[in-house]
Amino acid sequence: MAKSHRGAGIRELQKQGRGTCPVCSRTGIKLLHEREISGKKQKVCKQCSAALKHGTKKAS
Ligand SMILES: [Zn+2]
Repeated sequence: MAKSHRGAGIRELQKQGRGTCPVCSRTGIKLLHEREISGKKQKVCKQCSAALKHGTKKAS
């Protein structure tokens, strides 16, 4: 369970867990956090996950 977002654990994900974040549209970023965005569960990057959690960013 430890380090589930690092190393070997994410190697087996598609594209090694990387992609384009739907919130900040950064490309090639690790999408490891599931957040509800407009009623849908989506994978977002670490920064957006934290921002949504703290309410500094609105899930549009
Ligand atoms: Zn993001």
